Amino acid sequence: MKMISHFVSVVTIILCCSCAPQNGTVESSGRNKYYSRTDTNHLSVSNSEWKEILPHDLYVVAREKATERAFAGKYWKDNPKGFYFCAVCGNKLFKSDAKFASTCGWPSFFEAVRTNSITYQNDTSNNMERTEVLCARCDSHLGHIFNDGPPPSHKRFCMNSISLDFEPEVSGGK
Ligand SMILES: [Zn+2]
Repeated sequence: MKMISHFVSVVTIILCCSCAPQNGTVESSGRNKYYSRTDTNHLSVSNSEWKEILPHDLYVVAREKATERAFAGKYWKDNPKGFYFCAVCGNKLFKSDAKFASTCGWPSFFEAVRTNSITYQNDTSNNMERTEVLCARCDSHLGHIFNDGPPPSHKRFCMNSISLDFEPEVSGGK
């Protein structure tokens, strides 16, 4: 009898283990308590804290203003329908309708989804006169803006893929 009850407990343990949730995804966003696609309040978070939270490759671009290699990011080429959010804080930044095929090797947009979703800053680094584009919610570096884009704005928001999170548009079922 004792053997049987022992056997039952072992089986129970095995069954419980096998039905444990198989998550293990989005480890980094799970650690990022600031990420929200609905909260638009400005964040004041130090770089030392962001360094603890963000994956290293995102941290160096978003917080130390590095630039990812051209033609290497995940969003420079294709243009599925949907929205692009700040990968650091979740702020909605661009719609796929404003994305255009650019030969520069980085995802390019002619306008932001809301004018107040981004801010601009003069950037004279690397002996160049450029305008840096930042996320208005978390002040993370997104890329630069140039005046050689297509109509109607003639602007080109030249963004780092890694600074963006893409969410496909859900097609309304008929
Ligand atoms: Zn942000």
